[in-house]
Amino acid sequence: VRTPAETERAGVPTGSALEPTRGLVEITKVRKSFGATEVLKGITLTVEPGGVAVIVGPSGSGKSTLLRTINHLEKVDGGHIAIDGKLVGYEVRGKRLHELREKTILKQRTEIGMVFQNFNLFPHLTALENVSEAPVVAQGRSKEEARRRALELLDRVGLKDRAGAYPRQLSGGQQQRVAIARALALDPKILLFDEPTSALDPELVNEVLDVIRELAKSGTTLIIVTHEMGFARDVADTVVFMDQGQIVEQGSPEQIFTNPQEPRTRSFFSKVL
Ligand code: ADP
Ligand code: MG
Repeated sequence: VRTPAETERAGVPTGSALEPTRGLVEITKVRKSFGATEVLKGITLTVEPGGVAVIVGPSGSGKSTLLRTINHLEKVDGGHIAIDGKLVGYEVRGKRLHELREKTILKQRTEIGMVFQNFNLFPHLTALENVSEAPVVAQGRSKEEARRRALELLDRVGLKDRAGAYPRQLSGGQQQRVAIARALALDPKILLFDEPTSALDPELVNEVLDVIRELAKSGTTLIIVTHEMGFARDVADTVVFMDQGQIVEQGSPEQIFTNPQEPRTRSFFSKVL
């Protein structure tokens, strides 16, 4: 529970209904439209510290948009999101109360790591430079410290011996593992994965999933969008099924995969499992 002063500093009016929070990530009634199309229709989701939430659902259901709102890549039109008690975006009764300052947004972004489908490595930087760049630029760490830490992280994803390689010299699976090391380099409070293996040849999928499994075991808080259902079942504490901008159903892997309650969930799994 936060003190009124802490709440005030976070930009929330004291005593308002916005008083946070239980989870590390608290998504409350989030809405988002593109033009006339509402793609998030009131999403509420909590992820506990160390928790692993896996989001599944058909293409176009709003999974990527949801991840992007968490990371400030999209502004929400309604509801609010808090990371570790600090608001990412919020709104009350149709009125945005307060625009976060650009500096606050940049700071929060460094606390939220994101790994994309297409790796998004800097092509002109080596694996080591890709991983060590942001800690120097965004967090003001020394080059030497950033380099040492980058080598540790490359080791953790099994790529210490490829530290000097450029992205074009690496396989897709290796590039994605570098991207994971890069996301970890800022010591984020949470890591978001948006279909991290969808762009990979099938034989390269497992080397990436194994790294994510290891992160899950080590207590990193994760939100993962994936179509890999076996992996989802293994790694998730919570499986979230989204369809048409809504969470249709969420629960343990056991509940969602073996005993889904909603017809839409059953119909989706009958196609993908
Ligand atoms: P998913 O990741 O589940 O496939 P997305 O979040 O990418 O779904 O997209 C949800 C819906 O929002 C889709 O209909 C998509 O076309 C639309 N959409 C996503 N991003 C934009 C955008 N920047 N502008 C307009 N429409 C968008
Ligand atoms: Mg998507």
